[in-house]
Amino acid sequence: MRLYQNRDVNCMGRYRAELDKNACQGFGACVELCPDFFQLTDVDGKSSIEGAKKVVKANQTVSETLEIDKLECIREAAEACPFNAIHIVNLETGEKLI
Ligand code: SF4
Repeated sequence: MRLYQNRDVNCMGRYRAELDKNACQGFGACVELCPDFFQLTDVDGKSSIEGAKKVVKANQTVSETLEIDKLECIREAAEACPFNAIHIVNLETGEKLI
């Protein structure tokens, strides 16, 4: 049984998913678990969030953020990331979930 079951995976609210591109090592656990949101890019070989805003410094994307109403598989992907590169913030409470 997976640890994340029965948690607020499908709770409605406002959340921000954040991907730290510097921490990402591109092994793809997030892509495997949550392919509707994450994909590996040819540009840097790292993960990218579909439809996310990109923060670019010195011509490199350093992070991506996406605001969502429902966590769906993003929480599962964040919990599985071995490099702690995916974070989730509840925008209604300010709580950092991961
Ligand atoms: S699981 Fe983490 S380290 Fe692996 S590709 Fe996804 S964000 Fe990058």
